[in-house]
Amino acid sequence: MDRHMSYLQKHPSITRSRVNNFIGGGQWSDVNVQTALYDLRVSGEPHIRLEVWSAPGQERPTFGHAVRQKFRPAKVGQMFGPSWTTHWFRVHVQIPAQFAGKPVQFLFDSNSEAMVWSPSGEPIMGLTGGGGGERHVDYALTPCAAADEAPRLFFVEVACNGLFGNGNFTQRPQDRDIYYRLSSVELAAPNPAGWALLHDLEVVVEMAGRLPQESPRSWQALAAANGAVNAFERSDPATVEAARGITQEFLSVPGNPAGHQVYAIGNCHIDTAWLWPFAETRRKTARSWSTQLTLMESYPEYRFTASQAQQFEWLLHDYPSLFARIQDKAKAGQFIPIGGTWVEMDCNIPSGESLARQFLLGQRFFKKHFGQTCDVFWLPDTFGYSSQLPQIVRLAGARYFFTQKLSWNNINRFPHTTFRWIGLDGSHILTHMAPSETYGAQCRPGELIDSLGRHKDLAYTNESLFLFGNGDGGGGPLRPMLERLRRMANTDGLPRVKQAHPREFYRHVEDNSKQLVSWKGELYFELHRGTYTSQSNNKLWNRRAEFLLRDAEMLATVAAMGHGGRGGFVYPADELARLWKLVCLNQFHDVVPGSSITMVYRDSAEMYADIFESATAIRDRALSSIYGPPAPHGAGLSVLNTTGWVRSDIVAIPPAEYSRLETGSDLVQVRASDGAILVPAINVPGFCAQPIDARIRAAPLEVGAVSVVASADGSHVLENRFVRVAVNAKGQIESYYDKDARRELVPKGAAANVFELYDDVPVFWDAWDIEIYATEKYRQLDGAEVSVADRGPLVASLSVRVPISDGSVLTQTISLSGISPRLDFDCDVDWHENRKCLKVSFTWDIHSDVATYETQYGALQRPTHRNTSWDMAKFEVCAHKFADLSEFGYGVALLNDCKYGHATLGNTMSLSLLRAPKAPDEHCDMGRHQFRYAIYPHAGTFSESNVVQEAYQFNVPLVQLSAHDVTGAVAGASRPFFSVTGARNVVLDTVKLAEDDGASYIVRMYEAYGGHARAILTSRLPAADVCKVNILEEPMDGARSNEDMGIRWLDHSRSLEVQFKPFEVISLRFSA
Ligand SMILES: [Zn+2]
Repeated sequence: MDRHMSYLQKHPSITRSRVNNFIGGGQWSDVNVQTALYDLRVSGEPHIRLEVWSAPGQERPTFGHAVRQKFRPAKVGQMFGPSWTTHWFRVHVQIPAQFAGKPVQFLFDSNSEAMVWSPSGEPIMGLTGGGGGERHVDYALTPCAAADEAPRLFFVEVACNGLFGNGNFTQRPQDRDIYYRLSSVELAAPNPAGWALLHDLEVVVEMAGRLPQESPRSWQALAAANGAVNAFERSDPATVEAARGITQEFLSVPGNPAGHQVYAIGNCHIDTAWLWPFAETRRKTARSWSTQLTLMESYPEYRFTASQAQQFEWLLHDYPSLFARIQDKAKAGQFIPIGGTWVEMDCNIPSGESLARQFLLGQRFFKKHFGQTCDVFWLPDTFGYSSQLPQIVRLAGARYFFTQKLSWNNINRFPHTTFRWIGLDGSHILTHMAPSETYGAQCRPGELIDSLGRHKDLAYTNESLFLFGNGDGGGGPLRPMLERLRRMANTDGLPRVKQAHPREFYRHVEDNSKQLVSWKGELYFELHRGTYTSQSNNKLWNRRAEFLLRDAEMLATVAAMGHGGRGGFVYPADELARLWKLVCLNQFHDVVPGSSITMVYRDSAEMYADIFESATAIRDRALSSIYGPPAPHGAGLSVLNTTGWVRSDIVAIPPAEYSRLETGSDLVQVRASDGAILVPAINVPGFCAQPIDARIRAAPLEVGAVSVVASADGSHVLENRFVRVAVNAKGQIESYYDKDARRELVPKGAAANVFELYDDVPVFWDAWDIEIYATEKYRQLDGAEVSVADRGPLVASLSVRVPISDGSVLTQTISLSGISPRLDFDCDVDWHENRKCLKVSFTWDIHSDVATYETQYGALQRPTHRNTSWDMAKFEVCAHKFADLSEFGYGVALLNDCKYGHATLGNTMSLSLLRAPKAPDEHCDMGRHQFRYAIYPHAGTFSESNVVQEAYQFNVPLVQLSAHDVTGAVAGASRPFFSVTGARNVVLDTVKLAEDDGASYIVRMYEAYGGHARAILTSRLPAADVCKVNILEEPMDGARSNEDMGIRWLDHSRSLEVQFKPFEVISLRFSA
């Protein structure tokens, strides 16, 4: 009997510890395989001489600038900092003769991120100092040193930040005062056989630990590892080969050819901003991707994928030669651009048009620079996936989707791995969620075992995707991962692994799996529900930017296409693209969700300021082109309605404008809060401007009186011809009576507009998470002071002051106009809290199991109960401009101008207003906030209402045109640019000039309520020809005629009939 085997069998756990200890870098590294990794190591002069130049402040100078500076001597052990500073090292190397015949590496550990540069300014590879699986400190100087090596010179750019910024983000905000130690700089001759044994053992030892303990392969792995330890003698290099003989014999047993097939793809998730500013991402991209190019030289089978056109564009600008090398590797099929979007965006908050632009900008970039668009939509890390994505993805020329984020759900386990995801309109895309449940796999056997073990659809498909490489802060795959992958490619006990383009995986599934399961509707992420609310300014600016760009683009198109244009308006295509890129950039999945550090939001605020200034300038130039320049002594004020339907509003105008109006009416009012003059603008047609004086003359026909009455008990009643609203002394609505419907909306004993302050202490992710237990612990805010602000005749309003705490206070104006049953709430909050969430709630006498929430290009329903764990998990959900609670015959909508966090439980709707997380941005949401919401009661259910239009109007004010002549000089200018009739469920959302074609324009519309429609679209712009196109503005299904696709010209008119399916998004390309 073999003595050794008997010990192994009796003590498997001890043996597993033994073999684990043999490969580790800790306590036993001076006696285990680690001693076999290097033949030689030298440091210091005369082999290595270091000089350094430290860039001032937080500047990130170019190579060309840095190398011209005055360098000073530097040495190992010195500290460099503080956080976010940059230090350029000039490195003089003389490989000593004793290295002759051996490979030589330069090892540089600054405990931070760094980049090696050639003396001519070529970025060579990124370095990551410090310990752990991200450590990457070796730069290969030569595969075989000569006896008389010439001196070498190169540069290392050290950035004083780690892969995850500066400091421990989970505990506290970023540390601004971190210094990094240059802990080692060496020349080393690695021992390839020693490394090979290490990588063998990394695989074999983990197979021994992770395979089922009763399986023969587990025992064999343990025996092989144990045998290798016994064979290795650290004083005798020849024993490394003997040990390898044992491990190789084990690994060479092939896997089951019919077994699970893993498609491995290298990737490097680089958050476009998160715990570091955008500027650092530009360098992270170069560091991470240059490292991958180096690996591709040594590993021809290596495939690496990268998403986010923005990062490619930065690279093209900052590192053009590196970009060119990437293009070469893309041609060779090793470097694979993927995703098709501008950034890996959040999918909760961006509008439908924003999602379309993510693809338009992204796919066009990839097509231009890499010759093709992407067919795999790629969002491994985004916080939930809205129900319109399948349609948008299809319309953007892609058909496959990858994520893994739902593996983070904290209530339910998502039941599918490979499935058809069916969207709001019925479009579907083949979707896969990596069963390894990570995008940062380290290429270890356990991850492959999980790829099989956690796969939920093995009945239909026997393959999975496997994303490996360090990520979030970049880094990407490293050499040991590729070495382990080679060893695991085909070995008994593990799934087979091959490196492949993800498309190959999806096509294989498509061709071989006919019975895939389906999932309908949103892929709701059961975590990070606080991201609908955190960093509320960012969300406000995103909303405003989306609508401002909409107006600017539409008006620029009208001006450019010649309708009433004077003097050849040139469509600012490049500038609009630049602004959309900024909007899309800020929709990155750690920016608009609110999970980045302070520095990111400083940059973001500057970008939004640029967007607002530049887009306003475009809009105003377009208006001057359409209506002629303002004439100071000419016409008075006009209003332009950029929505597609007739609307009425009360407009607030500066007093100076009022003096020029010929009103002939006493229906004007001075607003108490700011002295603005309120005038009615009644029945302004869609896509059309009207002088406001005429509107006022028409007004008495339409404007009913509004009044406010105070009672002795401190309550007030606001009343117009539609509703009567009673507000109690706390500022809460006790009664909301609809006169037409003869219906009280507030149940007895309940109230609406109730402020609640919740304890908001998540389990772990501070800025990210509102947890379900937070809904249990709150206090209602009482003690309001209520007073009358405006008394009519156009608007009656109350001013409400609600103390929140010693440090925070909310003031609110509740106003009712004479023209609508809608009650508006304008809020101004001074907010200084710690882990609190402010919500406002509304309880209605309405009975429904579902509430309706607006999403991109449509609306969806979610339960108002918590029957199942899936219903319960949606205790906080995302909605865009409205949420609606309707029963047969009647409903109430809650509108907002910048809020996204909603909930409806039973008959109580609530809106999350502000949060107070302290990490990663300790200043998050502290200070002043202004926002608006409104209550809009309506007859009929949601689909019978005009809530979509009302919410649109609430976000898109009438554009005021001062002293433009909208009726006179420019023929036709007073007529609508467009009209949509015959289908009130169709919204015309976007008008833009076609990409690369100044003679065509795009009109994008969608069906908003979930039904079929035949809409009549009339355009006053030139429209000789029309073509149904996708988001990329390419003809849809070119073989089919317009009639087949549901569009046809109406006889003798400029009008087009367009057929819609429920929630369909249709883009038309009109040519002059
Ligand atoms: Zn991410």
